Amino acid sequence: MKAQSRRLFNKTCLNLALSGGFYAVTSQVGGCAEKEKTASGAEIPEHDRNEKLMNGKKEKTGAEFEPAYLKLHKSGELKNRGEGLWSMMKSCELCPRKCGVNRLEGEEGFCHASSQLEISSFNPHFGEEKPLVGKGGSGTIFLTNCSLRCVFCINWEISHDGRGSPRSIDDMAGMMLRLQSIGCHNINVVTPTHYSSHIILALDIAAGKGLRLPVVYNTCGWERPEIIKMLDGIVDIYLPDFKYSDGLMAAKYSTDAKTYPEITRAALLEMHRQVGVAKPAVDGIMYRGLMIRHLVMPNKVSGTKQVVEWIAENLPKDTYLNLMSQYRPMHRANEFKEINRKINRKEYNNAVKWAKEAGLTNLDIQGWPLWRNL
Ligand code: SF4
Repeated sequence: MKAQSRRLFNKTCLNLALSGGFYAVTSQVGGCAEKEKTASGAEIPEHDRNEKLMNGKKEKTGAEFEPAYLKLHKSGELKNRGEGLWSMMKSCELCPRKCGVNRLEGEEGFCHASSQLEISSFNPHFGEEKPLVGKGGSGTIFLTNCSLRCVFCINWEISHDGRGSPRSIDDMAGMMLRLQSIGCHNINVVTPTHYSSHIILALDIAAGKGLRLPVVYNTCGWERPEIIKMLDGIVDIYLPDFKYSDGLMAAKYSTDAKTYPEITRAALLEMHRQVGVAKPAVDGIMYRGLMIRHLVMPNKVSGTKQVVEWIAENLPKDTYLNLMSQYRPMHRANEFKEINRKINRKEYNNAVKWAKEAGLTNLDIQGWPLWRNL
């Protein structure tokens, strides 16, 4: 999520919640579509269908889109996956922290989450990447707590301090349906890792009541590939950060997460295997694919050159990459001299130059107006 806009958005949500203007929970019902076939009649594999949708011809629109999870919902597999992840909370290893606490008995691990779902807010959001926002907005659901916890977190009130309210899985399903009914283009679960089971079980309920929007898995990127494999056929759009190329930087600024680079790289490969390259359909909206975000930080803390080179060497050159320029020292960043400032024009220009030199062609580059106040 874009830093400034997310912060503004959270403030707006808080104001709405305080003023009683927050969205109410509702429910609906819905239908299905046929499998795609080649001219010879063979069924088109999932990945190739994605290529057909996102590359070149762009012949599909939202009206023809069928979310990945629908097939698994119909077979009962979606619920099985949710329950499988749920049982993992007995000795929780849902994220690379592998705390081993029994969340089902109310214990909390590093993320501060028990098995009680907590949600901070849900709302259409217009500050996300353009192909996720369209005209109706991205249907964001902000989940409370976090398994990574960066010292510069822009959402620290939610992720570190636990701002949010206990909600049921039925409540969450209702939120998804409400976001669909008001015209959002996707369901965008923000910081989902520690509540992956709750999200899938909510999705199963919502799919049974007519949810047909793509799911955006909006994550810090530090995801166990084994868990991401369990989301195969469920998530349509992966939206991970790739924050650091150096484990020492990750350990310093993201609470000892020194495994961040290698675990995130493995997770990105698995995400790409599942959903392929992200390119908007003919209506300008993204329905499927991997969209990577990289926040350029001051003093090369995020290792931008190594990040873009790894992406170019290990994923297709047209992999979507949002090079984010909006770093601001937030939360505890002022305790660390090297990250206690915004980035400058030269640092961002270098990031763009390195990405282009590496051969990346599908870059979301932020415009010059952003730089006027730097
Ligand atoms: S999800 Fe939370 S409790 Fe589970 S391993 Fe990660 S930090 Fe620990």
